[in-house]
Amino acid sequence: MNPADSLRRLVDGNARFAAGATAEVDLVERREATADGQRPWAAIVTCADSRVAPELVFDTTLGDVFSVRTGGNVVDELVLGSLRFGVEVLGAPLIAVIGHYGCGAVEASCDPDVPDHFACVCDEIRPSAEAARASGTAEEALCDEAVRLHAEAMAARIAADERLASRVPVVWGVYDVASGAVTFHDTAGL
Ligand SMILES: [Zn+2]
Repeated sequence: MNPADSLRRLVDGNARFAAGATAEVDLVERREATADGQRPWAAIVTCADSRVAPELVFDTTLGDVFSVRTGGNVVDELVLGSLRFGVEVLGAPLIAVIGHYGCGAVEASCDPDVPDHFACVCDEIRPSAEAARASGTAEEALCDEAVRLHAEAMAARIAADERLASRVPVVWGVYDVASGAVTFHDTAGL
């Protein structure tokens, strides 16, 4: 599958999910069909938030998406290494970074009094929270802006990895946990 078709499948799958019209899937059939190998058609980075499961949000099934999840969809070396496997070995033709509104990690990063046990995540998000504040964003919209800036920053971090960027486009968007809709803010020209 090419990158444009991959993005189209994500958009279409999310539209089905948001509309409550997800496809019927025989998981036993899918499990048997993928037992000997996988050929995921997208790699997705999302938050570990229980409401943001990419397989559900994009109405996919076993063998479809190579998903990498961390608190606040933070991209670090482990995530980059995982994505290289998904792209170089498994052949995923596209990487999508999906932030989400109502993200606890981003909200914590907008707060200067972050508990120590969580600081390693917030340290990675705080530049986007500070950029949102510096842009003059109203206080009540600060976290939403930080969510967008952070997803964009994480996509840029992946795009700065030459091994990945030379092989596949990187797109990013934000998921609305209330409506179920993903809005892609950068589709890499696809
Ligand atoms: Zn989150």
